[in-house]
Amino acid sequence: MNKSELNGSPHNMQQNYQDAMAMVRKFGKPDLFLTFTCNPYWFEVLNCMEGVQRPEDRPDIIIRVFNMKLKELLEDICKYGIFGTVLTYIHVIEFQKRGLPHAHILLTLDSESKIRTKDDIDKFVSAELPDPCTDLRLFQIVTKCMVHGQCGTININSPCMRDGQCCKSFPKQFKDDTEENVDGYPIYRRRATESVQVGKYSIDNRCVAPYNPWLLKKFNAHINVEVCASVKSVKYLYKYVYKGHDAASVKIRKEGALDHDEILIFVEGRYVSTPEGMWRLNEFNLSHKSHTVVRLAVHLPQQQPIVYQDGQEA
Ligand SMILES: [Zn+2]
Repeated sequence: MNKSELNGSPHNMQQNYQDAMAMVRKFGKPDLFLTFTCNPYWFEVLNCMEGVQRPEDRPDIIIRVFNMKLKELLEDICKYGIFGTVLTYIHVIEFQKRGLPHAHILLTLDSESKIRTKDDIDKFVSAELPDPCTDLRLFQIVTKCMVHGQCGTININSPCMRDGQCCKSFPKQFKDDTEENVDGYPIYRRRATESVQVGKYSIDNRCVAPYNPWLLKKFNAHINVEVCASVKSVKYLYKYVYKGHDAASVKIRKEGALDHDEILIFVEGRYVSTPEGMWRLNEFNLSHKSHTVVRLAVHLPQQQPIVYQDGQEA
């Protein structure tokens, strides 16, 4: 199995990345990084099921609902300014291995809305379990959508495990107070409270992914919100977002056969799930930017292209 560059359009993703970096040069670094994941159990999806249908039987419904929710989420952020005034944003749609879509969103806020102090951070982002007595609905959504699964020594086979460590470094440490900037990211407040029993697992604040309570309650989905204002390596953030989709190519060859068909390998190496197929058939955007970036052609001195008219070559 070879995870390679054989995806939809690496060139296009590279160009998008360059455009996003042009926006960073003009408007500054992003402040917030959101990941919004489709919830196949939204009631808008379930209400459309006929007979014994399950959400996975109707990728057409799933992607339409996700597209509508994404539009509304962007409207709440950009038009109604739930995090303040947005200067620029970009978003990219990705499809997970099981096929459900998620969107990565990077936002740049204006100077008045910048998230600077730990109070600003606490106002927008929480990484703790809410109190079920005061807000049962939020508690249910957080425990369902925002808890990082059991990994580490309890489950070394968890998909997040790399070389015996959780790649997202869960479980985190308890922390009495938010700290603004530790190597680019804040360390969110995670007070040491008693753990709660959810299903067969006992969970506490160490395994909660950062979220915004208002957004979570409105959209009932996994919405990870990270403050990235002090991240030094902005390029890394945008490269992560524009990394392109996964692709795998497998080849079984007869000994000595020399039938290398590059086009065929490209076509077969690109896996498109049914929701992604539906997304493309509906011609929904795979990525979007708040601003237009015009790409200008450049040439080296004395190396400009020359056009010959037919018959005038001499
Ligand atoms: Zn993990």
